[in-house]
Amino acid sequence: MSARALTLSVPDRQRLIEGAFEAKKGTYSPYSKFPVGAALLSVDGQIIKGANIENASYGGTICAERTALVKAVSEGIRSFIGLAVVTDVKAPISPCGMCRQVIREFCVLNMPILLVPADYPQAEPAEGTTEGGVRETTLGELLPDSFGPEHLELSRK
Ligand SMILES: [Zn+2]
Repeated sequence: MSARALTLSVPDRQRLIEGAFEAKKGTYSPYSKFPVGAALLSVDGQIIKGANIENASYGGTICAERTALVKAVSEGIRSFIGLAVVTDVKAPISPCGMCRQVIREFCVLNMPILLVPADYPQAEPAEGTTEGGVRETTLGELLPDSFGPEHLELSRK
């Protein structure tokens, strides 16, 4: 069982979802043709947007979630209360494993993560989703038994 998710207010939830759609406009994804937008909500109410930025040397590609995080962190914003992610797929799509680990560095395990379908708000949301077809999950659910910064503080033999 994972910890109960923190609750976002309705206006914050809406700002995050709109931020993710807005963020997706910044995508540079000529290779995958898989645009992604991500929006973070900081504790002081700022929305930080990120899109996936690909590279001809594929390994240089950075996902939308990590773009948003590195933008925020490099500007000194390091406390977040929510994340929303949207793609062009008409279903909720999860962050990749690498992004989950990077999110883990800066976000609490019960932080809400909203996986938003491209056709939000869906008239007939799929089973297991909430309002508008959004899948609401948490970092702890997406990355169970994870390794984080606190583990480096443990005493060693
Ligand atoms: Zn990723």
